[in-house]
Amino acid sequence: MSRSPTEPRLVRVTASDNVATVVNDGGLPAGTCIPTGIASREIVLLEDVPEAHKVTLVDFAPGDDVVRYGAVIGAATEALPAGSWMHEGRLQLPQVPSLDNLPMATSVPPAQPPLEGFTFEGYLSPDGTVGTRNILAITTTVQCVAPTVEFAVRRIKSDLLPRFPNVDDVIALTHGFGCGVAIDAPGAEIPIRTLRNLALNPNLGGTPIVVSLGCEKLQPSRLLPAEKLPILQNEPIVVRLQDDKHTGFLDMVHAIVAAAESRLEQLNRRRRVTRPVSDLVVGLQCGGSDAFSGITANPAVGYASDLLVRAGATVLFSEVTEVRDAIHLLTARSATPEVAQALVREMAWYDAYLARGGADRSANPSPGNKLGGLNNVVEKALGSVAKSGTSRISGVSGPGERVTTKGLVFAATPASDFVCGTLQLAASMNMHVFTTGRGTPYGLAMAPVIKVSSRTPLAEHWSDLIDIDAGTIATGQLTVQQVGELIFNMILDVASGRRQTCADRWGLHNDLVLFNPAPIT
Ligand code: CA
Repeated sequence: MSRSPTEPRLVRVTASDNVATVVNDGGLPAGTCIPTGIASREIVLLEDVPEAHKVTLVDFAPGDDVVRYGAVIGAATEALPAGSWMHEGRLQLPQVPSLDNLPMATSVPPAQPPLEGFTFEGYLSPDGTVGTRNILAITTTVQCVAPTVEFAVRRIKSDLLPRFPNVDDVIALTHGFGCGVAIDAPGAEIPIRTLRNLALNPNLGGTPIVVSLGCEKLQPSRLLPAEKLPILQNEPIVVRLQDDKHTGFLDMVHAIVAAAESRLEQLNRRRRVTRPVSDLVVGLQCGGSDAFSGITANPAVGYASDLLVRAGATVLFSEVTEVRDAIHLLTARSATPEVAQALVREMAWYDAYLARGGADRSANPSPGNKLGGLNNVVEKALGSVAKSGTSRISGVSGPGERVTTKGLVFAATPASDFVCGTLQLAASMNMHVFTTGRGTPYGLAMAPVIKVSSRTPLAEHWSDLIDIDAGTIATGQLTVQQVGELIFNMILDVASGRRQTCADRWGLHNDLVLFNPAPIT
């Protein structure tokens, strides 16, 4: 059967790669003649290859290394002539890199020239951090109070918020933790410090309001202990529902609304002021990745990340399970042996955490990743790390820790989108950039989320959900640098309130989801 000829488009990431990725929408049919990029040789596709999937550029014998991103992503499980479809069933997962004898700060990238003169308009908080939004948040110590706080928030938004036009939103920081948990068990410090640092996020403007039940394990004094809050000028405002002074439900609601009114008056007096880019804390994440993520969206975000680092900002990259297989590249890039050692510590902790659950890294990629042409976690990791650009790694933080280091920081988190987003908010993220190939309507209430598509068909299909199309890199319309600059400029515009993200336009705000490795009792 003859097929209509299509101009074939493939991407080969480095000159040592022996596979290339099909860019054409709908894939390429058997019989298509394609350039290999190797000594101007052409080959003919022996079978249909779907969009975003890989083609063998050379003849493979069983056990031969498959190279993408200039790195081995696995071994061929069978003999495959050039022009074959290299799919999951034909690729054996390599061994995970050992955490012993890693190169520690052995190839530290030289500092790039500073990028000066870039600013944004943000809200300065009493602790010196700067918000990109001016949000009133009501913190909770325990799930028991969540519906009451949500009731109060609805009332605050309808009755009070219209009087305070400089306040962007009112949100309830609700969660499943606080009681019925082994609060002193190893690992419980993670959800506790996450909740504490969420309440201190720069976009929330300082002194938190805390709603407590009264009998819960996580008491307000443990959530926000005075000695840990030197950055706050005032004690948190605490409303305790079991206090005798509250007579019935509406009285509790009234107490929360009254506390909110005093904070709204303070927040409403704030105005955006011109601030240096070094006040930005930009969290990077991917979700629903495909084989394009690592050649379009993630490298473009990596370019933007390098610009942000040069301008003095903090850039967070995360998702332990997605970088674990590229750890040897990250320890080498660390600024000091101590930073490299901190990376190893976080990887080792996570290895042990997964082993306790009988899970391993083969649980990643997801079925959607695989449909999108990502065969295994090594390939996914190499593409994921591209988000971090080329800067040296200046710091490492544990899950839920507040980050104060400038430059590129690895903030250890699970890869789960909403858990990672929650932990990056706790790390003090005030802007979020999210890359996707399969597509997700993800968004957060506490910080704007810019979504970058790895391929043009998704950006066109979801034109009201995707903010930036990096698929233009694969089609040759724009370069990685050009899309990276688009992302950098959009970060400044959104941070300044000049532009709205798609997720904010529709009010798409995923739940805060805590990472609690400790037992539930
Ligand atoms: Ca993710």
